[in-house]
Amino acid sequence: MKWKASKISTMRTWGLLLVLLGMGIMVFGTSGILLFGNVGKIIAAVFMVLGMISCFASMGIYFYVGMLSTSAPVLDCPECGKKTKMLGRTDRCMYCHTILTWDPAYAADGHDEDSEPASPTVTTTTSS
Ligand SMILES: [Zn+2]
Repeated sequence: MKWKASKISTMRTWGLLLVLLGMGIMVFGTSGILLFGNVGKIIAAVFMVLGMISCFASMGIYFYVGMLSTSAPVLDCPECGKKTKMLGRTDRCMYCHTILTWDPAYAADGHDEDSEPASPTVTTTTSS
């Protein structure tokens, strides 16, 4: 499923999963206090730190995605007409998951069964 999404959406999904994982770990660790008493407090502390690391990692991913998406060129998807963003030479549309590519040579063999690559029309580009 996730390999069908665009790169930005995929990274956002991973960020969300890490937040949920981190919170899950922290809740699990806290329940250790109830189950194991004083020993559980140490376990809870360890799990709390792990959960924090997971949350911070996801914040890093969100920050990175934010930086990428501001520098990514915005273009009109030729398939569904919505505005989407592209990372790298090839990426999928965020809405209809059509493969978009800048390179006509790559478009010839870069397709899979269900979707033909289409050449995007660039409306605005931000260069940095
Ligand atoms: Zn599209």
